[in-house]
Amino acid sequence: MTSEITLEKPAANGVARGQFEQHFRGQLIRPGDGAYDQVRQVWNGAVDKRPALIARCADGDDVATAVRMARAEGWPVAIRSGGHSGNGLSLVDDGLVIDLSQMKRVTVDVERQVARVEPGLTLGELVQALEPFGLITPTGTCSGNGLGGATLGGGIGWLMGKYGLIIDNLLACEMVTAEGELVRASATERPDLFWGLRGGGGNFGIVTAFEMRLYPLEEVLMGTFIYPFSQAGEAMRLYRDVTAQAPDELAVMAVLTTMPEIGPAVALFACYSGDDFGQGERQLNVFRQAQPLVAVVQPMSYASLLAMMDPAAPDGRFYHDAAYTVRGFSDEAIDALLEQVEQRVSPLAGVIIQHVHGAASRVPAGETSFALRFDHYAVLHSSAWESGPAEPHVRWAEESRAAMARFASQGVYVNFLGDEGDDAVRASYGSNYRRLVELKNKYDPANFFSRNQNIRPTVDGDSGL
Ligand SMILES: Cc1cc2nc3c(=O)[nH]c(=O)nc-3n(C[C@H](O)[C@H](O)[C@H](O)COP(=O)(O)OP(=O)(O)OC[C@H]3O[C@@H](n4cnc5c(N)ncnc54)[C@H](O)[C@@H]3O)c2cc1C
Repeated sequence: MTSEITLEKPAANGVARGQFEQHFRGQLIRPGDGAYDQVRQVWNGAVDKRPALIARCADGDDVATAVRMARAEGWPVAIRSGGHSGNGLSLVDDGLVIDLSQMKRVTVDVERQVARVEPGLTLGELVQALEPFGLITPTGTCSGNGLGGATLGGGIGWLMGKYGLIIDNLLACEMVTAEGELVRASATERPDLFWGLRGGGGNFGIVTAFEMRLYPLEEVLMGTFIYPFSQAGEAMRLYRDVTAQAPDELAVMAVLTTMPEIGPAVALFACYSGDDFGQGERQLNVFRQAQPLVAVVQPMSYASLLAMMDPAAPDGRFYHDAAYTVRGFSDEAIDALLEQVEQRVSPLAGVIIQHVHGAASRVPAGETSFALRFDHYAVLHSSAWESGPAEPHVRWAEESRAAMARFASQGVYVNFLGDEGDDAVRASYGSNYRRLVELKNKYDPANFFSRNQNIRPTVDGDSGL
């Protein structure tokens, strides 16, 4: 069965704080409460924000009540699903966090191959819930990410070549608007809003449930190839050449970092999601050409694949990421990249490259608000450290990105942006930006939802465009 919720229109007037506390069904956590310090932690240990109240919602009605209370009381709000945004967008100092992390219901309609899922699930939890049905939906690459944020920004992952981004498999959203109204958006209900939600981040409201298309998938064939850094040039050129011709069912991620027991290395993680594992093996074995130190090709469940990626970026470590987009890697770009990787100041730091192609690239740029619909590489210079000052780590990520700017194209995947600001957001949405501003004017003219990669509404004297 899919959605059965009742969509109620709340009273036009807001909810006072006392009334809110009386009606709220979830958990309210304040400074001084035993759980406060643990609940305000997010993936990036460098984020240290102190909200005045964390409202862990039980359901969509709780979310609507929280929005109406925050509006009535003039509170700043942040929305949290999985808390994985690198710059801590899911928290706000001295304001209200509308926390969806406890909303994890999954309802599967096996016959229609559709699931209704709530945003507090991690991607790993979602995949695990679908596994007994032999069904999956495209996700990101690791299991710890929150479904809410990963989906609303677009969602790039192992199956994007075959089935597109997470948003390309969204059928409907249930959400709470800036007015505190619980509504649905789909191709036939508020289609303008549905367009904006598919890539527009949390700019238009709080999604309380997603309806997603599912596909049968028992296992993928996974290749892990690790090359010593002395062979990095050869490995990266092979990566470039294979991905440039990659069929839809082959997704390859490159990670340039220090690997346990190996040292500085290039790791290629290649996922074949087709039906013919014989053919998959042939596709993966190409990566043996650059003489890897480690070469493992094995079938595995999709859930195991996501879990395999988690240890590289554990919760609570300090992080600073700097991202950009590259349409292709020339030999010169590869050499420049390797030079930057060698200048890392921490062995925990590295560069992660995801190849966006196939079904994800074939969607016309105007069909969803996610605009980066062309074959490209999403590149992340990721600093990570466990103690000491942030400055050298932040500097490496920022300076090494700057050194690669001459090879980059316009626009960065919004879920990989940090605090780059308005121009970067505008560039990411490209030709869709104007329409997004119009939508923001319609659905959130007061910019109530502003702790995100923000699309600013038009204000007096400012066209916003
Ligand atoms: C280790 C790691 C690996 C990653 N790998 C990938 C990857 O493979 N593919 C990929 O696409 N991305 C990836 N990302 C990026 C990730 O998708 C984003 O960080 C995403 O925002 C995380 O979602 P969240 O729910 O955990 O985030 P949160 O920090 O909770 O929220 C992020 C933003 O989304 C908003 N938001 C969250 N939920 C909702 C909601 N239900 N309604 C409205 N607004 C909401 C928040 O307000 C905030 O602005 C990765 C991030 C990390 C840290």
